[in-house]
Amino acid sequence: MQLYSTKNKRKLVDLRQAVLQGLPEDNGLYMMRDLPVLPPSFFKQLKSLSFQEISLEIGKAILKGSIPKKELRSIVETAFNFPVQLVKIEPATNILELFYGPSLAFKDFGARFMARTMSYFIQNEERELIVLVATSGDTGGAVAAGFHQTPGIQVVILYPSGMVSALQEKQLTTLGGNVKALEVKGTFDDCQALVKRVFLDTELSRTLRLSSANSINIARLIPQSFYYFEAWKQLERPENVVFSVPSGNFGNLTAGLLAMRMGLPVVKFLAATNINDVVPEYLRTGIYRPRPAQRTLSNAMDVGDPSNFERMNDLFSFAWNGFRKAIEGYTFTDEATKAGMRECYQRTGYVLDPHGAVGYLAWKASAAEHPKIQGIILETAHPAKFVQAVSDILETKVEIPERLASLANLEKKSISLEADFETFKMWLLKNYH
Ligand SMILES: *Cc1c(COP(=O)(O)O)cnc(C)c1O
Repeated sequence: MQLYSTKNKRKLVDLRQAVLQGLPEDNGLYMMRDLPVLPPSFFKQLKSLSFQEISLEIGKAILKGSIPKKELRSIVETAFNFPVQLVKIEPATNILELFYGPSLAFKDFGARFMARTMSYFIQNEERELIVLVATSGDTGGAVAAGFHQTPGIQVVILYPSGMVSALQEKQLTTLGGNVKALEVKGTFDDCQALVKRVFLDTELSRTLRLSSANSINIARLIPQSFYYFEAWKQLERPENVVFSVPSGNFGNLTAGLLAMRMGLPVVKFLAATNINDVVPEYLRTGIYRPRPAQRTLSNAMDVGDPSNFERMNDLFSFAWNGFRKAIEGYTFTDEATKAGMRECYQRTGYVLDPHGAVGYLAWKASAAEHPKIQGIILETAHPAKFVQAVSDILETKVEIPERLASLANLEKKSISLEADFETFKMWLLKNYH
């Protein structure tokens, strides 16, 4: 397969380069040149395939031999060794539970696939690969778990001090070994800007073997398209389907758009955001106005300049109308989110986390406008990841899965860092050169 940069469609690279480099030099983002359209035979047999088999089929079609079939099979089988569950909570309302991985969030899919893909591509190299990741909460935990003890790879996680939940912080800071956590005095956007600048710095790219693990890496995006097919497969009547996607950096929604381009019959997507609403605003006004992120209850969606906007723009050839045909935007305050969690719990007994709740609200708003559609809400994290907030809001006890409960006793180990590029650069050179 070949990939281009969204800033220059003529310069093509192979998957290996796109995955290991993360970002192209021109500050664009990598995209696949030829996205396959899956044949009717694939959809016919879908019901009989497991999620791992679906992943292998789509992976083969997208990657076109960039990873041999045997290796790809082993990657998807070891990466996706947990279920994907569609739960019907009301006649037309379904929840896609994406939280059965080790970090209890959907980011496990991308992180685990990417870790194994990178490891496959560097297996014969001598230099260590340093993977950088900026996180607003959940990415870091998923990446840390996904890459922990992967041979030949060092991981550096940057997270905004005081802006992630206690449990999220434990997930980032307790693994040790090849995983280092930098606690940045700034916002998530500062963390993301620091990572972006590293790749534009010629001295760093010359001296260190660097890569990134944000949703900007194509190896994280690709596997996120797989579970849209799995959700569709699990529907009793797969028709008139709308996906509601709680969004921050818009990797998840972009992966849904890829699934649609590959032939998944989707009526439309709902871009569900908290008050960090640059994309819903763009859909309404046609003007893209990035701005600093504001803190909310759904903190993994506190993004003021979503990096995948560039990819969505690329998919729609920079046409506002294309955007508006495929995506409806919805934005909700924390108060509305809390009310939505209570309403859903009281009526259906289902416990949503604050991120899923934003998706739930978007679906309810859209369903009121368009009868006859059925909704799939992506539940992006397990409610226990936000146990304090969820139990306060619902006034009920939230069950904590064992893989999370055991974290509480581990000791936090982080390194404090100013949100300053030169300081970060010195730190990288000192530690890895
Ligand atoms: C990262 C995250 C999101 C946002 O996903 P994007 O792909 O960045 O839009 C939503 N919910 C949770 C729980 C997350 O961790």
